[in-house]
Amino acid sequence: MSLPVVALVGRPNVGKSQLFNRLVGQHQAIVSEEAGTTRDRHFGRVEWNGRSFWLVDTGGLVEDSTVPMDVEIRKQVVQAIGEADLLLFVADARVGVHPSDARVVDLLRGSGKPFLLVANKVDNPQSSDFYEFYRLNAGDPIPVSAANGTNSGDLLDEITQRLPDQDEAIPEALRVAVIGRPNVGKSSFVNRLLGEERLVVTDVAGTTRDSIDTPMRYHGRDLIFVDTAGLRRQSKIDDGVEFYSSLRTRRAIEGADICVLMIDATLGLENQDLKIATLAWEAGRGLIMVVNKWDLKEKDGKTADKFKKEAIEKVPYLAFVPWIFTSALTGQRVTRVLETIVEVESEWRKRIPTSQVNETLESLVQRLQPPQAAGREVRLLYGTQVTAAPPTIAIFGNNPDAVAEHYIRYLHNGFRAEYGFTGAPLRIVMRHKN
Ligand code: GDP
Ligand code: GDP
Repeated sequence: MSLPVVALVGRPNVGKSQLFNRLVGQHQAIVSEEAGTTRDRHFGRVEWNGRSFWLVDTGGLVEDSTVPMDVEIRKQVVQAIGEADLLLFVADARVGVHPSDARVVDLLRGSGKPFLLVANKVDNPQSSDFYEFYRLNAGDPIPVSAANGTNSGDLLDEITQRLPDQDEAIPEALRVAVIGRPNVGKSSFVNRLLGEERLVVTDVAGTTRDSIDTPMRYHGRDLIFVDTAGLRRQSKIDDGVEFYSSLRTRRAIEGADICVLMIDATLGLENQDLKIATLAWEAGRGLIMVVNKWDLKEKDGKTADKFKKEAIEKVPYLAFVPWIFTSALTGQRVTRVLETIVEVESEWRKRIPTSQVNETLESLVQRLQPPQAAGREVRLLYGTQVTAAPPTIAIFGNNPDAVAEHYIRYLHNGFRAEYGFTGAPLRIVMRHKN
């Protein structure tokens, strides 16, 4: 299952960002390694008592100070209601109850989503500043101090108690995520696959999220398309789509075995697409590239190859994944994607017997010896596949740190040439053995 989402909402300056930083804490690193939009920095992964969730600071969504605050916070809340599993309404205990707070509480209550009222800036645990928030009739306000951490553990307890159960995954089914930027045709594609308009379209406010995932069967294999409801919801909302879609993409990748990355043939491969591809690849997922809206592309017999070649020039590992050129509109090659998903699964799960790994290693070394490091002998002794799904081959040698990067790439290409692993991120690791 993908991780639940907890969203912080509240007026400016109540301390949402500071609370975000406090709760995300050291995990911040996961977020900030991200190049790209600043908005990406507003979500982070939190782990507490064995539970994990995404924390989202919606404060970054609406930065337009010309918009009246009430409208602004309303937007924040409505967006968060549509996307989050739990909302934290953050108020400032130093200011006390603000006239707009009651309206926000009404909105939250009407949404049917669980929410918590957090009274921030209670820096002194003995303080009774927050008592007046009982007036809002929104349950027990939880006093915290984002600044010094007072009560943040209690808050995390309250949050994790309210998260939906995460143990619904059906292990035998293959989980597939269709990912890609907005408007490339993801939901049209999934609808096509299912042969009917079966995806649930939800209104933004106050709807339950019934069918987040869509199961289907293909040639005896159970597939689950993850977060298909989210695909639909995305196109219904204008504000902050990018912000939530990047979070959704991460959740989908995390909850999937195989990712189908869809791009728009008329736009070509853009940096955002490469970023998403790399997220999936580095997360160890199987990957399939689907170039959709092929019906709109002016083409001759070479256009597909050229498209692919240009992409591989930018990102060499894309040579190792299947490419399919589809039209969700006409249905062209849409079922080919299903076949490919099943093929990539078996490549991704494939195990090569140790004797074969060693045969291949030997012949690769015979063809090209590892370059010797200055004054240090480099010998590769043997190899074995240590994991599948995704595949990892460990190669043991006397001097693993001294094996040149380009030589590891040579081995990688050699193993690929022999065994394919098409669509699977193959890892080669060097281990020490005398
Ligand atoms: P946001 O606009 O809601 O994201 O608010 P910020 O996190 O930017 O905080 C607004 C101001 O409140 C900053 O000057 C913070 O230093 C301050 N602040 C945030 N949390 C606390 C707190 O727990 N105690 C105190 N005393 N100040 C806080
Ligand atoms: P999503 O945001 O990625 O889920 O994209 P949608 O499925 O909502 O599609 C965005 C727009 O592109 C819609 O107007 C679709 O009708 C259109 N569209 C989707 N796939 C194709 C396709 O293969 N060919 C053409 N011509 N249009 C498409």
